[in-house]
Amino acid sequence: MRPRSIRARLTLWYTSLLTVTVLLLGGVAYWLLEYSLAHDVDTALQGIAQVLAERPAASGAPLVSADIDALFRRFFGLSPWGRYVERWRPGDDQALGGPAPRTGQLPLSTTALRRVAQGLPTLETVEGLGQYPVRVLTRPVFAGGRITNLLQVGMSLESVSMARRRFLLAMAAVLPLALLLASGGGWLLARRALQPVDRMTEAARRISAEQLSARLETTGTNDELERLAATLNDMLSRLDAAFSQVRQFSADASHELQTPLTILKGELEVALRAPRSPEEYQRVLASALEECEQLASLVDGLLLLARADAGVLRMERQPVDLAHLVEEVGAQVRMLAEAHALTLYCEPVESLIIQGDYAHLRRLVLNLVDNSLKYTPPGGRVTLTVQRQDTWAALRVTDTGIGLSPEEQAHIFQRFYRAANTQAQEAGGAGLGLCIAHSIAQAHGGYIQVESAPGRGSTFTVFLPQPP
Ligand code: ADP
Repeated sequence: MRPRSIRARLTLWYTSLLTVTVLLLGGVAYWLLEYSLAHDVDTALQGIAQVLAERPAASGAPLVSADIDALFRRFFGLSPWGRYVERWRPGDDQALGGPAPRTGQLPLSTTALRRVAQGLPTLETVEGLGQYPVRVLTRPVFAGGRITNLLQVGMSLESVSMARRRFLLAMAAVLPLALLLASGGGWLLARRALQPVDRMTEAARRISAEQLSARLETTGTNDELERLAATLNDMLSRLDAAFSQVRQFSADASHELQTPLTILKGELEVALRAPRSPEEYQRVLASALEECEQLASLVDGLLLLARADAGVLRMERQPVDLAHLVEEVGAQVRMLAEAHALTLYCEPVESLIIQGDYAHLRRLVLNLVDNSLKYTPPGGRVTLTVQRQDTWAALRVTDTGIGLSPEEQAHIFQRFYRAANTQAQEAGGAGLGLCIAHSIAQAHGGYIQVESAPGRGSTFTVFLPQPP
């Protein structure tokens, strides 16, 4: 089964890798040990054989073991065995290369005998001569350039077997202990390294929608976990801001809807309290209708913004002549402008076609012109122009009104924002007009720019992309 904690998985991986590494290293060390021991034995045998071959032989009799002992001690520092040394002298009737003769305890293989006949030495490992295998060197003895004799030197591999066994025993004892220590240490290290993750999980669990101002603790170590905490904190900040915005929006929207509803309810209650003349009923109904229209427009605006936020604002894409649009809006508001004692001027232009939604663009321009009329004192002037500017169509609404401070300009596209001046408060707008205009421009791939100064009027320019 797959362990569920990272700590357990890390430890398991770590221990498995360590086991494989240690086993590999042990294998290599074992092989090296085996190789060097075997090499030492062979070298020693060759050395001894050389010395013996150069000694005058006592007519084929086995050599005295004391001599051999001394030789072994000289080459090895110890004497493992002196027994397996012999010299065999082929008789006149037994030519070299014939069947293997046995004059001593060492066996002579046909291969070795054949090789001796060719003047070559042979090294073999022979089993069955005792408790341990014996390494046997068979070599020819030369005299006067001829093969005159055959020499066999044997050596028990006891010390090699013992060394090998000791090595394996040491490995078997040390390996589990080392693995135990390493896995214990790995477990503790992983626990230490992952402790901040546990703390972060706990802290994240405590943070809810109502408590988004809380942040994860950072340690200043600038490691991966620190960066994770910083990223999560950034995300929390953004969520916090988004939640506050939504809360503010709901509060503002409820407030804006509540005001006309309260007025409507009050007027209707008063009208119903006593019998009224038909004129009075008419006046009350007309006022109720006005409040209903305001409510409908507010709800309509909120719906448009909600759709724009969700990216589902439906836009027709058809050719729209901005010159014609400006003329139509001008004609629609001319009476209103005159009622405010304002001059409305639509600069005549040739047609300027863009792709867009006529109804939405009309709403955008109406919102801008409506603001200019609201925030320009009597005697002022509102101008509408349309112009081509590189790949953009620029639609401008300029007024000689009260203007906006840089501080106000930074907020006018926010929902429900109204400037603190008396004109803005008295105008009774909900503070959604510019926000809607901005959303419509954005949905067309455009944007709105404002240039204004308090007391010097304002210019709102809508930039809409124009296909080449
Ligand atoms: P409102 O419905 O209040 O007009 P808007 O979103 O259209 O809402 O405008 C937001 C605020 O921007 C207004 O309350 C007003 O203070 C300011 N504003 C908008 N247009 C103009 C303008 N042409 N001149 C001066 N102030 C303006």
